[in-house]
Amino acid sequence: MLSSQPVRIHDDATSSIHACAEQSRQRETGGLLLGWWETDAIVVRHAIEVSDPEATATSWTREEHRSTAALATALEQFEHPWLGYVGDWHTHPAPSGASSTDRRSIRRASRGYGHPLVLIVHRSDGLLDCRAARRGLPVRTSTEPFHTPSSEESL
Ligand SMILES: [Zn+2]
Repeated sequence: MLSSQPVRIHDDATSSIHACAEQSRQRETGGLLLGWWETDAIVVRHAIEVSDPEATATSWTREEHRSTAALATALEQFEHPWLGYVGDWHTHPAPSGASSTDRRSIRRASRGYGHPLVLIVHRSDGLLDCRAARRGLPVRTSTEPFHTPSSEESL
């Protein structure tokens, strides 16, 4: 039996993605997923937007300078010791999930990491398509909600 990789997505991340999708409407938008890896799961704690002024209805590009700057700002803002880059997200102004180009790009990006990377695609019907890849290969995922333990409530 194939096992699947649990991905725990915090409400903060899902609501940020929904809000950005709502605002951007007919154009794609996207950004970075911040979280950490646990023994049994990938935790997606936050989703931050990286603007692309050239974005269209079918393309959003993660420009390297902008995303490095957005990552630095977010890490400073959230001040969580475990927080780091765990993947990407973007929206589709159509009811379609990750395209073959999307799946290829997350597989390619994952070659540079020992841990799996996550890709979340927000479809126009509000569904989130969650993919993962590890060392260049696709990984089956199962998503679950993640809640902050009460001791971390202030984060
Ligand atoms: Zn896409």
